[in-house]
Amino acid sequence: MKRDIKTNIEHYGEDYKRFLGAIAPPIFEVSNFAFSSYEELEDHQKGKIDKFVYTRSGNPTINLLEDKIAMLEKGEACRAFSSGMGAITSSILSLVKSGDHIICLRGVYAPTYDFIHNYLKRFDISSTFIDGRDPEDIKSAIQSNTKLIYLESPNTFLFEVFDLRAIASIAKENNIYTIMDNTWATPYFQNPIEFGIDIVVHSASKYLGGHSDVVAGVAVTNKKLIEGINKNVHLLGGVIGPFEAWLILRGLRSLPARMELHQSNAIKIAEFLSKHPRVRRVNYPGLKESPYYQLAISQMRGFSGLMSFEIDGGEKELRRFINALQIFTIAVSWGGYESLVIPGKHVFKDRVDVTDSSSHLIRISVGLEDAEDLIADLDNALKIAFS
Ligand SMILES: *Cc1c(COP(=O)(O)O)cnc(C)c1O
Repeated sequence: MKRDIKTNIEHYGEDYKRFLGAIAPPIFEVSNFAFSSYEELEDHQKGKIDKFVYTRSGNPTINLLEDKIAMLEKGEACRAFSSGMGAITSSILSLVKSGDHIICLRGVYAPTYDFIHNYLKRFDISSTFIDGRDPEDIKSAIQSNTKLIYLESPNTFLFEVFDLRAIASIAKENNIYTIMDNTWATPYFQNPIEFGIDIVVHSASKYLGGHSDVVAGVAVTNKKLIEGINKNVHLLGGVIGPFEAWLILRGLRSLPARMELHQSNAIKIAEFLSKHPRVRRVNYPGLKESPYYQLAISQMRGFSGLMSFEIDGGEKELRRFINALQIFTIAVSWGGYESLVIPGKHVFKDRVDVTDSSSHLIRISVGLEDAEDLIADLDNALKIAFS
């Protein structure tokens, strides 16, 4: 029976009989699992039986999370990690080797940029950072040793949207793998695998967890590519803990409800900001006047709550505005229940790949509070900034 994603989030992979009828899955806070006999150990070593052995390679709480995320992302397999960066670095390293070349589209998360641009150099892995909003750019950046195209869509500072169908097809024609960070949209609003992206990664610390209380990551792909990722979990060790996996499972229960509310709040706020005389521009693909809106609705089912905007004035007004906010709290990260604000400078320092990032950009994560209260907070802070 075909079921809606909302039904699947709650029920997929659950088997109450397996855990004494427990409705909420137990936390298997355990490092290793016993063999009942020497023979069972032998059978396991010969690959005759599949059982839990050691939490770095598998654990019932973690596996339930991985099954659910794989289903949500329409992939065949998922691995959960101790952070989004764990998922990103292990996924990249599962595809490239010394001498390879990576094409990275602009605006990716700063530590991802640092890893590809700087860290991988020590393994003789080179990279080219390109705009990529016109997929033709990618064709001219391809070299004979290009192994991977890496992107985020939308990216999380300028909120640019990339053409996933076109990028995946260019990659496939040239035997190049693709990895995409789908943290902004979540699997509730976008499934890059449907368009031919090979590996989808997330920081589960954002919307998947949703409560600003856990750092975790996931990578979703097919049965073949998960093997390289599994190998990296085994060797590099970035495995998620059972308790953290349980917190993400708990957060996922309300993902659809939360995302709907993030979306409706964010659209109201983006509309308010775009009409405000002191606001110069709003970067949010959910606005109908956004240059990315048409492409966005052709590959996404909705919009989340993170956006950026620029106000008039200079450093003085920016500072006064941020300090005058009362509900929006100054903090890094995003995707939780609470509304946050961060000056763009803080997010995007020293980046060569993004040239038009104004130093006066402000990024907000719109939370689950009342939209009218949030608008009043922004309105009041704008008044104070320019008084
Ligand atoms: C936060 C974030 C990451 C990194 O995730 P962690 O869980 O903090 O390691 C990766 N990509 C994006 C878009 C992010 O916002």
